[in-house]
Formats: sequence, C-alpha cells, structure tokens
Amino acid sequence: MSQQQSLFDLTGKRALVTGAGRGIGLALAEGLASAGAQIVLNGRAAGRLEAARGQIEGADLLVFDVTDHDAARREIDRYEAERGAIDIVVNNAGIQHRARLDQFPQDAFQSVLQTNIASVFNVSQAAARHMIARGRGKIISIASVASLLARPTVAPYTASKGAVSNLTKGMAADWARLGLQCNAIAPGYFETEMNEALSSDPAFTEWLFARTPAGRWGRVEELIGACIFLASDASSFVNGQTIYVDGGMTATV
Ligand code: NDP
Repeated sequence: MSQQQSLFDLTGKRALVTGAGRGIGLALAEGLASAGAQIVLNGRAAGRLEAARGQIEGADLLVFDVTDHDAARREIDRYEAERGAIDIVVNNAGIQHRARLDQFPQDAFQSVLQTNIASVFNVSQAAARHMIARGRGKIISIASVASLLARPTVAPYTASKGAVSNLTKGMAADWARLGLQCNAIAPGYFETEMNEALSSDPAFTEWLFARTPAGRWGRVEELIGACIFLASDASSFVNGQTIYVDGGMTATV
C-alpha cells in the first residue's frame, strides 16, 4: 500500500454511525466500510438497521435513541466491554420540522434540539470517555449549510446546526490535547427522505439549482471523501473544523 493510500486506510478501526438506517448515515457507513472500517449501525428502528446490515458485511447493530443520554452511555459502554473499541463516531442522526417560528410547536422545537444537538453531546461524551483512556479517537458530526445560513420555516434546525459546529469547536478545545480529533461535515442539499418536501417541489429545485454554483442536488456518496479524511490519519492535525460539502453554496451570495 502506498503512503498516500495508508493515510486514508481504516483497516482495524471500528466506526459507530448514528441514524445509519438510511440516507446520509447509510451512505457514510458504506463509505467507511469501503475504506476498511468495521461498522456499528445505530438507529431506533431495528428492522431498518437489519436491512442496512445486509448492505454492509459484518456490521454490528446498536439500537438506541440518541436523545436518551443514559441509553447512549449504557449501550456504548456495553458494546466497548463486549465487542471492543469504537475508534470513530459519526454523529449523523437528525430531524427536521418546518413551520414559521411564530407558529412553531414547543414540543417540535424541543425534539429538533434534542435530536440534532443534545444527541451529539450524549453520544460523543459516552464514546470520548473510552477514546480518552486510549489517547486517540475521531468524532465527526454532521452539521449543515444551516450552521451558517438561515431559511424561512427552519429556525430551530438552523439553531441546532449552528450549535453542532460550535460544539465541535468545544470538543476540540477540551479533547484535542487528549488525542482526539473532532470535526464536522456540513452538507448542502441532498435528496434524502428528510428533504422529500423540498425535492418534490419543482420551484424549490429551480431555486436550488440557481443558488448552488454546482447547479444541482448533492449525491450522498459525495460526502464519503470528507468523512474518510476526517476518520483517518490523513486528518491527524485537523481539529474543530467544519468542512462544507455544498457545491459552493456557502461560498456565494
Ligand atoms: P434522513 O431523515 O433520511 O435520516 C435520518 C436518520 O436519523 C434516520 O436513519 C433516523 O432513523 C435517524 N434518527 C432520527 N432520530 C433519531 C434518534 N432519536 N435516535 C437515533 N436515530 C435517529 O436524513 P438525512 O440522511 O437527510 O440526514 C442525516 C443528517 O444529515 C442529519 O443530521 C441532517 O440534519 C443532516 N443534513 C442533511 C442534509 C440533506 O440535504 N439531506 C443537509 C445537511 C445536513 P430512525 O428514524 O429509523 O431511528
């Protein structure tokens, strides 16, 4: 293997991907597996994860709700004790709820914040305790162009994704000197179940193509390169950063 290849090689590493039953999480799990990692698939729906496991040879399942701090701690501790080290965490689970802010239901606000940002604390803290003891680990959180830019009807999502980028900086501040690299990937617009309301609306697609320098939707496989980079030795001195994979959207007005 050339030096260039070994920098990105994940053989012998184990990666936990949250919300891995479909969409971006599943694509990233497949991508990390293609770089040699053993995969641990998380989600709430065991059936969906079983189906995903069919696509990733040898993957383990870790079913828990990422909004549940105690469950995350318990399941990650149990997995580490029974199966071994989790070297890489991808905090991908997330939800969207659309309503104008003056009409936004309080329970939906809570669920967006719990699922998109409290989850990053819950899962990262549980995994980092083991990583710190080993003096190494990689935490990759999925932010969004909404970490930087607002749009109508998604203010709580925007708040949560801004917090993902900032929590990433905070993780680096606390954990970089303990051997961890904590970074985020901020996708632009990708056609997944989360975005069905947008992708089925021709007016939105027209707006998106005009607003995005690349002039199209992203394809979920296009997030894999950044994820392998941040999961591998290639990023050993990269910490607290958010990498935008958005076809140029946030570089332009
Ligand atoms: P999907 O809606 O397709 O998938 C979301 C996944 O998260 C599902 O597998 C779901 O699994 C899981 N999930 C939701 N809540 C929980 C929970 N409480 N505990 C565990 N798992 C949970 O979304 P995408 O693939 O589009 O999005 C993935 C991530 O990327 C999200 O964080 C999203 O905000 C972010 N993102 C997406 C963009 C896009 O264009 N699609 C753009 C920018 C960011 P289940 O319900 O089965 O438990």
